[in-house]
Amino acid sequence: MFLGHYAVGFLLKRKFQEVPLWLLLVFSQLIDIIWPVLVMFGVEKVAYNAAANPFLRVEYTFYPISHSLIMTLLYAVLVFFLFHKLKNKTWALALSIAVASHWFLDLITHVPDLPILLTSKVGLGLWQYPKGWFRTEVIFFGIATYFVLDSNKDKSFRIWMFSGYILMIMLFLFMFFAPAITPTNLQLGLTTLLVMAILPTFAYFAEKKGRKK
Ligand SMILES: [Zn+2]
Repeated sequence: MFLGHYAVGFLLKRKFQEVPLWLLLVFSQLIDIIWPVLVMFGVEKVAYNAAANPFLRVEYTFYPISHSLIMTLLYAVLVFFLFHKLKNKTWALALSIAVASHWFLDLITHVPDLPILLTSKVGLGLWQYPKGWFRTEVIFFGIATYFVLDSNKDKSFRIWMFSGYILMIMLFLFMFFAPAITPTNLQLGLTTLLVMAILPTFAYFAEKKGRKK
């Protein structure tokens, strides 16, 4: 899943108002931020296959450190304790839910490639129905964006968030319809990290500019 993870961040913002939106978005994608780093260093493995999934066209052949259920839950627990110490229970809870949610949303979309620990792999495979998958992500993200825009009436907040929304939809369309390419692991890793930075950056400025008023 891609946009759906951000949708969770948006929905969490509604419940946990004091936690910055950009952080909720980053942590909802935490394991997809760990993954490209590990791929670049050759720790986790991918294989390029145009038919693998309608999105990145990669087969996730080995990624238990970033994407196994056990590790995801471990990251969520670590994030909980870290933010409990740094901030408070609200931050700890919101950000650890964001982290844990990632695996369960991936479970819906991925073909059975998600490790529980190492070998047993699961995935409900929404990717096998590209149009249905595409619509699910766009609709989920759209509804969550509506909630975020509705929760803050500040004009510059709304302009920043709406711009971020449009950009992500355009990016998603591009990724969906672009021809399959075979990047190097370095290119894949850096591009993924860049993509991961876009919406949190917009959210950061949305709340920064919005709060000044
Ligand atoms: Zn993921």
